[in-house]
This record gives sequence, structure tokens and C-alpha cells, in this order.
Amino acid sequence: MKILCIGRNYLEHAKELKNQVPSEPMIFMKPSTAILKSSNDLYYPEFTSNLHYELELVLKISKNGKHIARKFASDYYNEIGLGLDFTARDLQEKCKANGHPWEIAKAFDNSAVVGDFIPKEQLEESNIDFKLTKNGAVAQNGNSGDLIFNFEILIEYISNFFTLQKGDLIFTGTPAGVGPVKKGDILEGFIGEKSLLHCNIK
Ligand code: MG
Repeated sequence: MKILCIGRNYLEHAKELKNQVPSEPMIFMKPSTAILKSSNDLYYPEFTSNLHYELELVLKISKNGKHIARKFASDYYNEIGLGLDFTARDLQEKCKANGHPWEIAKAFDNSAVVGDFIPKEQLEESNIDFKLTKNGAVAQNGNSGDLIFNFEILIEYISNFFTLQKGDLIFTGTPAGVGPVKKGDILEGFIGEKSLLHCNIK
């Protein structure tokens, strides 16, 4: 399986990192070794001193497809959940400055925390409220209605380049409010009031 991630998919987040707002979805990938199941501890990696959380809505692909037209895109995922796209922001800044790929900053072991999923029928997909708390205080608030590229557009675009396979995950981008974690922090992710993701930084 593979993890496809979208960068800069919320206006306010693109602004907070002083990035251009993209005219097409910006894609990067994480390998399956990046997955950390929610409720397992994340050990702060030794290669960074500025590890950031990014809470994102995650689509779980339910059947194989390529060149998927937008109008059929919703047939290809059946569950929606939450993930943390952990980012070594210091390494990422260095990669960006040098025009290099991001993998060491974004795709390292345990950089994709994945929580529980909800059948998509239980959600109003264009109006999903989600939030992250850090040590009990709200750190990020998002709503799927603010996505620059919505789920259907993402699936159409991604599947032009990559065959989607059952079990693949799409991290759809983070809203504003990204920030650093330190050892001892406790992160919890919610869709609505439902707690779906939990991560302790060790
Ligand atoms: Mg992200």
C-alpha cells in the first residue's frame, strides 16, 4: 500500500507557511513504513529539532482504479478518518531552500499516524468538522468545506499519475495551526465530537 499526501490544500495553511496557493494539487508520498497506528507512542526522532503535527482528513481507498473521472471518484473510497502528517520542519525548510525532494522531512518511519475510520455515509462530506487538541487545548480546527481541492478532484487528479489500490490512504492536507511538539505532549484528533486518533510523544 502507499500513502498519498496533499500539500497546501487549505488557504490559511498555505499562508501561514508563506507558500503560494497551488493551481493544481501538490502531491507527495510516504511509504507503508511511515505508518504508526494511533495509540502507539511516537518517539521524537533524533534527526530533527522542530517536529510539527499536521492533522488531516484521510480517505481510505476501497477499490483499484486509474484515470478515475471526478463523477465516479466517490465509488473509490468508503471510509474517512484522521491522520497526523508529522513533518521535520527544519529538514523540510532545508530541502525547500535547496530545491530538493522532501522525503527525509516527511516520509520517515512513524511520520504517518493513522487513527480510526468512519464509514463515509455517516458524514456530510462537504462539511466535516475536525480538530486536534494538544495537551487538552485546541491546536487546529478544520472543515472539509474549506479544502481548495475536494475529495473528488483529488482522486481524479492523483489517479492520472498513480494507480490507486485498495488500502491506499490519501492524506488530504492540513488546515492552519500547525506547530511543534515536544516529548510529553499528548495529541488527540476528533471528527465532530468523536475521538478517533491519539498520540503520545515520548
Ligand atoms: Mg500535510
